[in-house]
Amino acid sequence: MDLDLKNKVALVAAASRGLGSAVAWALAREGTKLVICARDKNTLEKTADNIFLETGVSVFPLAVDLSDKDQVDWLVDETFDLFGRVDILVTNAGGPPPGNFEDMSDAMWEKAIQTNVMSAIRLSRAVIPSMQKQKWGRIIHMTSAAVKQPIPGLTLSNVLRPSIMGLTKSLAQELAPYNVLVNAVCPGYFRTDRLEEIIRDKARESNQSVETVVKNMLGQIPMGRLGKPEELADLIVFLASERASYITGSFIQVDGGFVKAML
Ligand code: NAD
Repeated sequence: MDLDLKNKVALVAAASRGLGSAVAWALAREGTKLVICARDKNTLEKTADNIFLETGVSVFPLAVDLSDKDQVDWLVDETFDLFGRVDILVTNAGGPPPGNFEDMSDAMWEKAIQTNVMSAIRLSRAVIPSMQKQKWGRIIHMTSAAVKQPIPGLTLSNVLRPSIMGLTKSLAQELAPYNVLVNAVCPGYFRTDRLEEIIRDKARESNQSVETVVKNMLGQIPMGRLGKPEELADLIVFLASERASYITGSFIQVDGGFVKAML
C-alpha cells in the first residue's frame, strides 16, 4: 500500500522516547520530514540522530516544555521556518502522575491541564490555518484507553483525556470541508518508561511485587501481552496518510482487547 507520505512534513510532540518516538520512527521510514520535540534535549537529539542515520530523512529536534504556551508557539514558528508548512500534527505529552482523586492538589490538576489538554489545543490552533489554506492536513491526538474505560488510580487521565475526544469531534466537524482530518488514538498498555513508572507506583502502593502487578495487568488484556510502541505507531502512520482519506472524528483504541465497551 502506497501511503504517499514521502516528503510530507510532520510535527510529532513528545517524541524523545516511548510512543512519540515510535511514531517519529515510523513516519521517517515512510520518508516524512520531521520536527520532534521533548523536554530532555540529550535524549531528543540522540533520537533525531538515530532516525536520520537509519532513514536519511530531515529530522529536527527542538527542546521544549509543552506545558508552556510560549514554548509551544516557538516550536510551531520554528517548524514553519524550517519547512514552510506542517502537513501532519501528532499531539502527545508525558502522562500525568498516577493517583486517586484525594491525592490531587490544584497544582497537579493545573499542570496536567496545561500539559495534556492545552498543549493539544495550542498545537492544533497554531497549525490549522496553514492546513486549511493548503486543503490537506492530518491531526492525530494521542489519548488513552482511559477515555473509553476509566483506569483505577489514573484520575487525572480519566478526567482530562475525554476533553481531547471533545476537541477531536469539534475540530473534525469544523475542518472536514478543508480536507483536514482529525482523529484520536487510544493506547491500552504499552511497554514504555511511562508504563514502568505506573507499574512501580502500583506495586509500592498495594504492597505487591512488580511481577504481581504485571500479571494482574496482563490478566485484563485478552491478548495476554503488552503492546509494542510500533504497533500503535503503525495506526498513526495510516491515519496520517492519504489512504485514511475518509476517516475523521474517530477514536481508535489499540489495546489487545483491553476495552470491553462496545462504543
Ligand atoms: P514516556 O514517558 O515513555 O514518554 C513521554 C515523552 O514525552 C518523552 O519523550 C518525554 O520527554 C516527553 N515529555 C514529557 N513531558 C513533556 C513536556 N511537558 N513537554 C515536552 N515533552 C514532554 O510516555 P509514553 O508511554 O510514550 O506515553 C506517551 C503518552 O501516551 C502519555 O501521555 C501517556 O500517558 C499516554 N499513554 C501511554 C500508555 C502506555 O501504555 N505507555 C497508555 C495510554 C496512554
